[in-house]
Amino acid sequence: MNYRVRKTALLGCLSIFILSLMIVVSPNLSYAENVVTGMRVGVVEVDDHAALRVVVESKSPLNASLLLLQSPYRLVIDMPKTIWDVKNLAPYGQLTLAPSKAYRFGTPAPDISRLVIELEKPAAPIRVFSLPPSAGGNRFVIDLMDRGKTAFQVAASALEKNSNIDLGLESLSDVLAKNKVGKHINGTFLTLLPKSKPSNPGVKSLPRILPAGKPHPRKWVVFIDAGHGGKDPGAIGKAGTKEKTITLAAARELERQLRASGLITPILARDDDRFLRLRQRIRLARQNQADLFISLHADSAQSPFARGISVFTLSDKASDKEAAALARSENNADLIGGPDLSQEDPDAASALVRMFQRESMNQSARFAATILKKIRDLPGGDKRGHRFAGFAVLKAPDMPSVLVEMGFLSNRSDEANLKLESYRHNLSKRLTKAILFYLSEHGPKL
Ligand SMILES: [Zn+2]
Repeated sequence: MNYRVRKTALLGCLSIFILSLMIVVSPNLSYAENVVTGMRVGVVEVDDHAALRVVVESKSPLNASLLLLQSPYRLVIDMPKTIWDVKNLAPYGQLTLAPSKAYRFGTPAPDISRLVIELEKPAAPIRVFSLPPSAGGNRFVIDLMDRGKTAFQVAASALEKNSNIDLGLESLSDVLAKNKVGKHINGTFLTLLPKSKPSNPGVKSLPRILPAGKPHPRKWVVFIDAGHGGKDPGAIGKAGTKEKTITLAAARELERQLRASGLITPILARDDDRFLRLRQRIRLARQNQADLFISLHADSAQSPFARGISVFTLSDKASDKEAAALARSENNADLIGGPDLSQEDPDAASALVRMFQRESMNQSARFAATILKKIRDLPGGDKRGHRFAGFAVLKAPDMPSVLVEMGFLSNRSDEANLKLESYRHNLSKRLTKAILFYLSEHGPKL
């Protein structure tokens, strides 16, 4: 090899080296925009309920964040700048599978692409995961369910606060391992391809597969949970009063006053002396799409001098040792019914459920503060204040939930009060005021 050839070869190698260096250091050269290659909607069955499934297929795995918006209800999937290249499907069109109505894909900012799914109901995501490519591209899957306006609001507010979290990172096996809810997925996935051209809006050729649901609620729904019951008496007072009797009497009075307000549909967890698991109580509240969950209890302490009302909300960390012990003893009520196999561990929940749980905890704290403001003039008043611990009954991730210990059965004067109809009437009056105030400020619009 002569000198000139060697020099050319050397220069060639050098330029290849420089070029590859440029590719490594310059993100613009190495970064290729992702491509949406498919989109479809369908129905899956999640815990005996129909859920709307939205699948977005893309060339590379999707980095996605979600938003929920109102008037009209819509789900927004934001992703880094992505190209729409779906065979036979325009970037906008109609969807005829309820509750989805229409979709559109666009680029609202130079580096953001956005897929919007318009919904006719306040359906919120219950599960989000990614799947590796099978026949098509990478799949990003969102399952949505209508659990009422409050659940939608909790989810919307949680997603807005966490728009930096990439929900495309969780795989299906992650989500299934972490979420007890939705573990039983029916394999039948009915696929309906979107229509890319608007058709006659009066013609709905497909049957409505999702349950029609309730008409728009004209009243707020408040779930009243009378603590304990049946084989679980709860605390026993100095004079022998059973907690389960007091909680039922108080729940009935609160129900009467809430109904009398004309703005609220109260739902009782139990209206007789029966045993209910803590999970069952939450399930009932969710089935009724409750806007608030209030659990009524009466405390018991070692010291006969401990007295007054405490308002508790859920927290991973207890506010004090006493609160932690109380939560343990209230949670033990479940053991009376044998081991509860449906118990889920929120610490191991998926990113999405953790996000909703945190938001519902924030809203619960706000509700607790409202209650404390209204009960100041009762014996013991708000001195014990707002406290928190890991109460299992407060773990609904889609509605504000509080537990009110209405007084101490271990204190003679509290016990005497709790047995009085007039005292329970006064307490319910203040709780009703607090509930109405909270819902008119923070609840969904009627
Ligand atoms: Zn109790």
